[in-house]
This record gives sequence, C-alpha cells and structure tokens, in this order.
Amino acid sequence: MRPTTNDLPVVIAGAGPVGSLIALYLARRAIPVLLLEKEVQLPVDLRASTFHPPSLEMIADLGHGVIDQMLARGLKADRYQYRDRRSNEVASFDMSLIADSTRYPFRLQLEQYEFTRMVNAALAQLPAADVRFAHEVTGFAQTGDYVDVQMATPAGTETVRAAFLVSAEGARSQIRKLAGIDYLGFTYDEKFLVVSTDFPFETVFDDLSWVNYVSDPEEWCVILRTEKIWRVLFPTTPETADDEARLLSDAFIQQRLHHLWNKEGDYTIGHRTLYNVNQRVAETYYRGRVILAGDACHINNPLGGMGMNGGLHDGNNLAAKLVRILRDGADHTAAFEHYNRQRRDLAVRFVQEHTIANKKLMEARDVETQVARQKMLMDTAADPHKAKAFLLERAMINCVRDSEAVA
Ligand SMILES: Cc1cc2nc3c(=O)[nH]c(=O)nc-3n(C[C@H](O)[C@H](O)[C@H](O)COP(=O)(O)OP(=O)(O)OC[C@H]3O[C@@H](n4cnc5c(N)ncnc54)[C@H](O)[C@@H]3O)c2cc1C
Repeated sequence: MRPTTNDLPVVIAGAGPVGSLIALYLARRAIPVLLLEKEVQLPVDLRASTFHPPSLEMIADLGHGVIDQMLARGLKADRYQYRDRRSNEVASFDMSLIADSTRYPFRLQLEQYEFTRMVNAALAQLPAADVRFAHEVTGFAQTGDYVDVQMATPAGTETVRAAFLVSAEGARSQIRKLAGIDYLGFTYDEKFLVVSTDFPFETVFDDLSWVNYVSDPEEWCVILRTEKIWRVLFPTTPETADDEARLLSDAFIQQRLHHLWNKEGDYTIGHRTLYNVNQRVAETYYRGRVILAGDACHINNPLGGMGMNGGLHDGNNLAAKLVRILRDGADHTAAFEHYNRQRRDLAVRFVQEHTIANKKLMEARDVETQVARQKMLMDTAADPHKAKAFLLERAMINCVRDSEAVA
C-alpha cells in the first residue's frame, strides 16, 4: 500500500529549545518525528536563562518529567527588581501577586541548554522520535502532499520525505531564506556583552533578587543569577566593525564589572560572549508545508526574557495544530493560517513593542527620564493592583491569553 502523508515524519530542523519542545510534544503522541541538529552535540551557550510562568505550564503539560527536573535544578525567582543607583531606590515586584493566574508564580532561572538536554534525554526514550546530530538541513522541495528535505550528514547528502518541515533553526534560518520569506526589522548598532562570574553579588548589594535591572547615571546592566552563576549583561558600542577583541578583553570586562561593584582585585570571569541585538519578525510564519517557529521567525533584544519563551509558545501552539492535522485530518493551510494570526500578529504587537520599550526605558541617560522611570516603577510596585497588571504583562500571561483568543 502506498504510504499516506500521515505516515511520513514531521522533520524539524534545529534542536534548540523550540525544536526540542515540538519534537517531544509530537513524539509523546506517537507522531513520528525526525529532529535534525547540525552541531555534533547540543549547543552550550549563555543565552536564555529565564522561563516565564506560561512556558513552565506548557512544559509541565508536555509530561515525561521534564518540569520536575527543571524545578529541581533551577532557581525560583519569586520577585525581581529595578534598581536605581542614582537614588538607591529599588522597585521590587512580588510574583506571588499572580498566584491566582498561574500554577508557577515565579520565573525559573535555568540555562536553556539544561532544558534542551532534559528534553533530548526524554526523546531518547520515545520510539516515535529519531534525533540525529551532525545533520544539517540544506534544502527542500515541496508539493501539495509532502516535502523532500535535503540534508548534509557525515555520510554525505541525504534526502528524506516529510509530511511537514519545521524550521526551528534560530535567527539565521536557511529554510526561511530558501522559502523566500523576508525577515523584516532592524539590528541595533550596539552589542550586548554577557559575562559570568562566581563573585557573590548578593553579599554586596542589599536584598538583591535573582533578576535585577540596574540603571545608573552612566550605564545600565542586567544582573541575574542562574542555577550556577551570576551573569551580567552590559550594552556596548563598538567603535568599528571589528572592535570585538577590545569589547571581549579582560581589561574592558574588568572595568565594566568594577564600575558595577568596585571590589578589590580582579573578578574571576567565566564565559564571555558578545551578541548582536535585533528586532525582526518574518513576513509570514509558513509557506505551504514549511513552517517557522522560534528565532527562525522572530527575534528581539533579550530584556524581559521574551525570545525563547515566545518561541516555546509558538512551538506548543504549532505542535497542537500538527497533531490535529495528522490525527484528525484538519486542513493544514487553515491551521497554519491560524498559527500565523495567533503567533505572528502577537509577535509584532506585543513582543516587539515591549522589548523595544524595555530597552528604551533602561538606556535613557537624562536625569529627568531616569527619575520619572524609577518613580513609575516604584509607584507600580507599591500598588498591588498595578503591580499585578504589570506582572501579568511581563510574565507573558496576557500575551498567551490574547493569542489563544484569536479566532
Ligand atoms: C544574551 C541573550 C540572553 C537571552 N536571554 C533570554 C531569556 O532570558 N529568555 C528568553 O526567553 N530568551 C532569551 N534569549 C533569546 C533566546 O536565547 C532565543 O530566543 C532562543 O535560543 C531561540 O530558540 P530557538 O530554538 O528558536 O533557536 P536556537 O536556540 O538558536 O536553536 C537553533 C538550533 O538549530 C540548529 N540549526 C541551525 N540551522 C540548522 C540547520 N539548517 N539544520 C539543522 N540544525 C540547524 C542550531 O545549531 C541550533 O541548535 C536570549 C538571547 C541572548 C543572545
């Protein structure tokens, strides 16, 4: 008998947090999935470290014990702070205010690579999942009924036939480019420097929370604690296109860290990475049987921790639709059009607007704006109604509800 589309696997390019989540969602429902990762092993880099409440709920619903491992390993940040070093004021937001709106009223601080490791360990136990490393998707050709996916493997070039091809390849998605989908938006001139250190900031700053947005007359930064280390994110302005060596030098990093806290002697520096900062959304999230999710279709500055979280929300939404298509015979074009309305429009309206506003708020240098900003944050944090509304927005609870309400 000729195989039908429903017997073909869903091929996912990229075993980052988004591709891994989609793979687990499908494989748990016995839908054959082929997860292809171009690297020889799961990448380990300092990127997302905050899981917002709706993401934790989706991961809990995935099953397979991933949420229990995450909660055991991660750090629960049940409050976070905006600290003004000019006035020494601290606006502290208590996440227990949203306990009636979520099962997880905290931000879980955990490196994204810990999440992908846990999900991939779960995938290894599921017969419907086939995960291959050192397999890079290099092209595809689609008809109305299937997609032929080309990949470069250690054994040479291979082609596999898929029901659908999901690009979870991150911001540089080849598939998006090959599908002729524009990535609209802009890249800031600034770059963000992220460094890690074992210096115990909690012993020198009073009542420091695990997530802190810090402003001061000369610069701003974000100090956050993951389950292992403190991480500091500084904005930097390259003087030339190849100024990276200076920005990553010991001298530059020590100077920035000493400006934050002038300790005696040098800081011990763990990782150091310089990131481009982008605000972009793909012009469409699908073309035929090829669908984009995560950074492959939207990217934003990391203030507020909405990039990976938004990607996980895409992944959860898309995986549910793929199940309805493959199990219940739902029309794929209608389902992907719905996905596009629910997830793309929201990325443009909510995530882009919020993250651009977050950055503007942090970087304002003039005294008047800084004073007004801290006053607004102090007033909001002090009023439980306002603080709750603020948290429902920042914890991405409102945006998930809004997305689900889109017909
Ligand atoms: C400094 C910094 C801090 C951040 N902090 C946060 C935060 O706290 N919270 C938050 O929500 N977000 C944060 N983000 C954003 C977050 O890291 C990304 O949104 C997230 O990694 C996107 O996940 P993804 O799975 O879509 O893509 P990626 O994590 O980029 O994964 C893509 C995967 O695809 C693989 N791949 C690429 N091309 C191919 C191909 N052709 N074939 C096969 N495999 C391929 C790659 O090797 C990679 O493993 C931060 C980002 C930065 C830079």
